[in-house]
Amino acid sequence: MTEIKFIADVMVGKLARWLRVLGFDVLYSNKFEDNEIIRIADAEGRIILTRDTPLAARKHESPCLLIESSNYQEQIRQVLRSFDLKEFNVFSRCLECNVALVDVDKESVFDRVPPYVYLTQDRFARCPSCDRVYWHGSHAEEMGRGAFV
Ligand SMILES: [Zn+2]
Repeated sequence: MTEIKFIADVMVGKLARWLRVLGFDVLYSNKFEDNEIIRIADAEGRIILTRDTPLAARKHESPCLLIESSNYQEQIRQVLRSFDLKEFNVFSRCLECNVALVDVDKESVFDRVPPYVYLTQDRFARCPSCDRVYWHGSHAEEMGRGAFV
């Protein structure tokens, strides 16, 4: 898995979520202001993803990708193309917290997931931050709703 890390501005929240589906580390908050984005990007070595031309033009040490399309599928393609990303680690990151998931025993999630899911899935993982339980299908279903790669 590549170590590439991103920080997304408020205008590309959907893109940020989908990059997390693919396993990428993407910081995103709808409270981020431009100065904060630049500060965090420079401090943590994150690539800035933005639709904001003035932000992209401002002086910062970190690389910055100006997202061209308003369509999130196009946005994902642009990011994958721009950084030549071909390896994905689906089912590895919480879509809400951007935190790496931890594998858990099937028995431990018995009362946390729908019965059908419990019966048909064998691999479960938990977010150590928000305690959400994920299973392989949960990311796959999300991806299945819009083919983009
Ligand atoms: Zn979480």
